[in-house]
Amino acid sequence: MKKYCLRLTGSDRTREYLISALEGGFLSHAYIFEGADGSGRHTLVRELLKAMTCESDDAPCGVCPACLKIDAGVCVDIRYIRPAEGKTELTVDLIRGIYDTVGMSPSELDFKAYVIENGERMNANAQNAFLKLFEEPPANVEFFIITNDASKLLPTIRSRALTLRLDKLTPSQMAEVLDAHNIPDSPKRARAISLADGSAGEAMRIFTEDDDTVRTRRICDGAIDILLVPGGDKLGFISYLQRNVKKTDELCRVTALMQRALRDVMACRLGLDTPPTYFGSTEQTEKYADHISDRAVLACQDAISELLSVSDTPLNPQLTVTVTASRLWDAHLI
Ligand SMILES: [Zn+2]
Repeated sequence: MKKYCLRLTGSDRTREYLISALEGGFLSHAYIFEGADGSGRHTLVRELLKAMTCESDDAPCGVCPACLKIDAGVCVDIRYIRPAEGKTELTVDLIRGIYDTVGMSPSELDFKAYVIENGERMNANAQNAFLKLFEEPPANVEFFIITNDASKLLPTIRSRALTLRLDKLTPSQMAEVLDAHNIPDSPKRARAISLADGSAGEAMRIFTEDDDTVRTRRICDGAIDILLVPGGDKLGFISYLQRNVKKTDELCRVTALMQRALRDVMACRLGLDTPPTYFGSTEQTEKYADHISDRAVLACQDAISELLSVSDTPLNPQLTVTVTASRLWDAHLI
């Protein structure tokens, strides 16, 4: 009997399910792969496509023409739908483009596949256009939606596709992935793993952009100190961020880190037994947890989420830094 192996670190249950579906011949025509950026969703979809195609007894072999073509992203029967260069939305036109080819017979494989990347970025019109494909799925067509948040998809889309979740990786699993990418163990690598919040892709990004990351972390540490240690004041907080943050994307990175710190603070206030993901230890978290209320933590997180949700639209950086700092200060006093 043909054996399947999907090469991915972590997310064992999702992998095992897919292997049993391949072996049992009950793959569905549509899946939603949900997980954080860098959690291995693209890798898993690629492994699955290779497994569906490869004729080796141990599939995917990774070396046959089909496997090589899929790895290189040049198989004509597999289309990747992603936002246009420089754009953030998956528009209705991109989805309608699927209609042009979906009815055609596959040329190389015995099926066609459409991989929708950043599925959460489909606007309402695009989702409705996509739904029509789902209602009458053409024969021999597979749809894979990759997303970091399946709740942003219409319930009618979610009900027609099985959602498979990818887990966060443990530090040792992340180390395994970095080993496989020939990134040797070092203090720099260890720091990337500790900052990456369970995402191997993120760890690799941080490793290569380490200097930026160290700077972002330093700014965030300073901001947390002013915000959560008594004695700070609103103007001091605003001018600290104005001095240190000059661009909107940098503000987003700093506040995304603050969100992690606030999550640690909340877990500490609730007495949860989860290790901190931002602070180095529970003792360090406790130092901050006493000076803010539960409601204030949630209000700060809301303010940050709101900023991050509009971060793709062009914003005046100075004004955005000022408004965000001011909102965070007010929120932390609730
Ligand atoms: Zn192969």
